Amino acid sequence: RCGYVAIVGRPNVGKSTLLNHLLGQKLAITSRKPQTTRHNMLGIKTEGPNQIIFVDTPGLHSNQEKAINRYMNRAAASAARDVDVVVFVVERTRWTEGDQLVADKLRGIKCPLIIAVNKVDQLEDKGDLLPQLQALADSHPRAEVIPISALRGINLDTLENVILQHL
Ligand code: GDP
Ligand code: MG
Repeated sequence: RCGYVAIVGRPNVGKSTLLNHLLGQKLAITSRKPQTTRHNMLGIKTEGPNQIIFVDTPGLHSNQEKAINRYMNRAAASAARDVDVVVFVVERTRWTEGDQLVADKLRGIKCPLIIAVNKVDQLEDKGDLLPQLQALADSHPRAEVIPISALRGINLDTLENVILQHL
């Protein structure tokens, strides 16, 4: 199996942390400060006969007045168009305008959509899924929701297996 996987989501949800953990190396810069990833980054994971090419995207920015934001949005949008699987990373408890922007862009995509609910290590209470996420999952014919912690490595093997099933 071989294919491209885009990792999308608003800034600071943990996309680069996820990529680094999946690859087992520090490829992408992670930071508490948004906008540390300014370009699409490719990371290639080869395991036996399988090869996954991950695309870490800069995240979508709602302020379109800055040229750098427009540039980053174009990079993220083109990555999401040209891949076999899209992984939409969101935070467990926080839903912002930025998440909604990404969710709106993802509505109607044809390729498999995996919603990775990140930072589950931060919260004891595992309540229901955010209604906005449920709506997105329901609108897609084959969306899957997987709770993870990119930082602690929780459930990343499940995420990887689901990705591989789609390639
Ligand atoms: P990106 O902008 O989406 O690429 O986000 P980063 O990967 O740069 O991460 C943003 C911040 O979230 C960093 O401070 C990370 O350490 C933190 N972070 C990422 N994943 C997790 C997680 O699973 N749990 C917790 N507690 N923090 C995380
Ligand atoms: Mg990043």
